[in-house]
Amino acid sequence: MGPRFASCDLVRRGLTRLPPYAINPRHSIRSACPCSAIASPKRWEVKIHEYQAKAILRQFGVKVPKGEVCFTAKEALAIASRLGAGPYVVKAQIHAGGRGKGGGVKIAKTATEAESLAGQMLGMTLVTAQTGSEGKRVKRVLLEEGLQIATELYLGIVLDRSQGMPVVMASSEGGVEIEEVARRSPEKILRSPIRPGYGLQPFQARNLAYGLGLGAQADQAQKLVTALVRAFEDSDASMAEINPLIVTRDGQLIALDAKMSFDDNALYRHPNLRELRDLDEEEPLEVEASRFGLNYIKLHGEVGCMVNGAGLAMATMDLIQLAGGAPANFLDVGGGASTEQVSNAFRILLSDPSVKAVLINIFGGIMRCDIVAEGVVAAASSMGVKVPVVVRLEGTNVEEGRKILLDSGLNFSVAAGMLDAARKVVALSQGGA
Ligand code: GDP
Ligand code: MN
Repeated sequence: MGPRFASCDLVRRGLTRLPPYAINPRHSIRSACPCSAIASPKRWEVKIHEYQAKAILRQFGVKVPKGEVCFTAKEALAIASRLGAGPYVVKAQIHAGGRGKGGGVKIAKTATEAESLAGQMLGMTLVTAQTGSEGKRVKRVLLEEGLQIATELYLGIVLDRSQGMPVVMASSEGGVEIEEVARRSPEKILRSPIRPGYGLQPFQARNLAYGLGLGAQADQAQKLVTALVRAFEDSDASMAEINPLIVTRDGQLIALDAKMSFDDNALYRHPNLRELRDLDEEEPLEVEASRFGLNYIKLHGEVGCMVNGAGLAMATMDLIQLAGGAPANFLDVGGGASTEQVSNAFRILLSDPSVKAVLINIFGGIMRCDIVAEGVVAAASSMGVKVPVVVRLEGTNVEEGRKILLDSGLNFSVAAGMLDAARKVVALSQGGA
């Protein structure tokens, strides 16, 4: 069953940091919502490209194919000549998997074929099971030596939130979608927890190696698992995945594909990782919002929301959904926002063309209502707002705030309470009064 609450959907898609009470089942919406959002919350993640993940893994001693990234077909030709004789593999670099099936992984026999495949791939819009129907524009490709595959395996590390520790997952059913294997035959996935303070023990790495049927490569496999764990821990990763991990015809274990993402709360310790962010792959409005320190997440509804506090923002989204509408965004302007920040927030949420009405819901605690009102009026008068705006203000300096809004000459409706605000804004977003 789908989520009953808009906020659950946000959490299920891993798009927000939850306030701590929301992940405490006794205080959360988990019991009220049939979806599994709260059972498996993901945090905010910074993704990187395959070639970048491979470079990191290589530093930690994981074997990866020889290869280089490029932005033009000409460069691809130069790389091919550096790699030596073919075959080559041309791989689209986008922040989404399933490229193989979508036409984003191609094999070339010769350097000129590699050049022309790279040329076709660069600039194309690649649609895979993970990109959504709009697809992703390919702006860089990875050109690698082609290898002779004997077996495809799966090896990954994710954070297991129910156990409170990372867990190594491995399967001899690699290459295909691991989610399918997990669903249909979960017994084919080996799991080994990494206990905080102990790390992965050598016996665990050996068990994984034998469990994968790598008796002949036990030594190599044990080293590889250990290296992957170190790469995961040292870079504060939230996910590290090798799919497929291959055994070549000559018995070598090589990471043929690699995927890593990182907890953005730890990025301050890794300036080198921060530089790997590819803003082209991120939602433009979210990138813009992050420049102003705003916590903005684009969603697919038509009611723009400007709220202070993550909890109030989640509750506001839920009320909008209860009133029959859908939120266009999550936006927490924070507790101590300035007039300028509020005005940037308002500008950003209004630049989303799907917004048909806006709800401003502010509880003035640390944040004063008059500051919010000034920011909104400044932004609204400079932009020329074309959609109706409903305001619910309570708390510190609420009277001054309301006065600023009403005296502005702009078209704001002031609501009496949250539910009233939600009903009004949904009616307005659907063309009603
Ligand atoms: P994904 O589909 O986005 O996960 O991309 P992958 O990097 O996993 O590539 C998909 C598939 O392409 C792999 O499972 C392999 O079967 C195939 N492939 C990738 N590189 C090579 C290679 O060097 N040689 C051969 N024979 N196949 C490859
Ligand atoms: Mn893959």
